[in-house]
Amino acid sequence: MPHDPKIKDVSVTNRAVNPHTADAPLPSANIPMPCTPPDLIDIGINLAHDSYDADRDDVIARAIHSGVTQMIVTGSCAPSTRKAIELARSHPQCLFATAGVHPHHATDVTEALLTEMTSLASAPEVVAVGECGLDYFRNFSPHAAQQRAFHSQLELAARLHKPVFLHQRDAHADFLAILREHSPTLCGGVAHCFTAGAQELESYLELGLTIGITGWICDERRGAHLLQLVARIPADRLMIETDGPYLLPRDLVPKPTSRRNEPSYLPHIARTIAAARGESLEALAAATAATTRRLFHLPAPPGHG
Ligand SMILES: [Zn+2]
Repeated sequence: MPHDPKIKDVSVTNRAVNPHTADAPLPSANIPMPCTPPDLIDIGINLAHDSYDADRDDVIARAIHSGVTQMIVTGSCAPSTRKAIELARSHPQCLFATAGVHPHHATDVTEALLTEMTSLASAPEVVAVGECGLDYFRNFSPHAAQQRAFHSQLELAARLHKPVFLHQRDAHADFLAILREHSPTLCGGVAHCFTAGAQELESYLELGLTIGITGWICDERRGAHLLQLVARIPADRLMIETDGPYLLPRDLVPKPTSRRNEPSYLPHIARTIAAARGESLEALAAATAATTRRLFHLPAPPGHG
C-alpha cells in the first residue's frame, strides 16, 4: 500500500467509495467456479481501508465464495493496525493481521508510537510486523526518517520472533543494506508486491525472503516482465496477494466501476501466475498456501480441521 495513485491511503484521504457503485457488477458471477474451490490465501489486503466500510462483510463473503480461505489484513499505521486486529478477532482462523508503519508515515514514528506498535504487534492475531520498508518513489517521508522507522520495526520483529511484511519502491540499495544488517536476527519475511527486475529478485531470494506477487502481473504495460520472472521463484518462496483496494488487475473483465480491488479477484491473479509458471491453479494454490501457513504460522482455514 499504496502502489496505485487511483485509490489513496486511508490516512491520506477519507473519501468513501459510493456504495451504489462500489461493487457493481459482481465479479464472482463472471469467474467460473471449479468443483472444489481453490485454497487461496491473500497475504496483503488493506481491509481496514475506508473504501470497504460500506460492505466489508460482503467483501469477505465474496472472497470466501471465490476460494480465498484466509486473508492477512495489512496494518500500515496505528489506526489501520488496530482495525486489522479487530477484524482478525471477529473472523478467527480466516482473517489475520500485520502491525506496522508504512514508510509514507515514517515521520509519525515516535517513541510513544513505537511503544504502541510493540503492544499491537504482540497480539496473537498479528502474524507479521509491517508493512514496513522504504518508498523513495513517493517520498512522503524524508529518507532518514524512513530508514529509522524501518530499523525500529526490524528490531521489533526480531524481538517478537515474527516475520516481516516488507514494502520497497525505488529504494532497492538502501533497503537491501538495512535488511542485510538485520537478517541474522529476523524470522523471515515477504517482499510484498514485488514489481522489480531479475537482479532484485535474486537478491531477495538470496536473503531468504519470500516473494509476494499482486495483480501488477496482469498489467501488460508495466507488469509484463513479471510473467517471465515468476517462473524463477521456487514454489516454496512464492505468495499471492491483491493489495486491495489498490492495484485492480488491469485485464479484469468486466471492471467494477469503483476501480476498487478486492480479495475475490485473487483467483484471477492466481490463474495468471499459474499460467506463467506452466502449472495448474490447484498446484499454485496448494504451494502458495503451504508456504504462507509455514511463514506466518497460520492454522488450517475454517472447516478444514
Ligand atoms: Zn505496499
